[in-house]
Amino acid sequence: MTLFPLRSHTPVENTLADTVFDRILRHEIPAKIVYEDDDVLAFRDISPQAKTHVLVIPKKRAANLTELQSWDSRDVGIFFQKVALVAEKIGVSEHGYRTVLNTGREGGQTVDYIHAHILGGEPLSGHFS
Ligand code: AMP
Repeated sequence: MTLFPLRSHTPVENTLADTVFDRILRHEIPAKIVYEDDDVLAFRDISPQAKTHVLVIPKKRAANLTELQSWDSRDVGIFFQKVALVAEKIGVSEHGYRTVLNTGREGGQTVDYIHAHILGGEPLSGHFS
């Protein structure tokens, strides 16, 4: 068992967290916003991995999918419905797209604010990257 100090996602730490996405949400740093409503904010990834690469974040904060377990099911549903809505708004729904939710370090998560990647606008290679 590895005993090095992995960063935990306790509610206290989450409350104090201030990631780049918290700052985008507060409009403190610029982002190419493609959609915003009462529930979510969607903006273009700064380092796109596909012709179209947009990130969708809920306005209600959670660090990652693990924390979504404590959410009301209705709010979880709204988040995923809004991801699909954003995909329609940015024009990738008709031909298809990939959604990715990285969770934790080994899952490749680099920003501790839950975000759904929407990748599309072209045929994507592989299935999981
Ligand atoms: P993940 O690795 O799943 O945590 O994804 C984080 C994503 O956020 C990466 O694809 C980054 O390119 C993207 N990103 C980091 N900083 C910014 C920023 N300021 N504006 C837009 N996207 C960003």
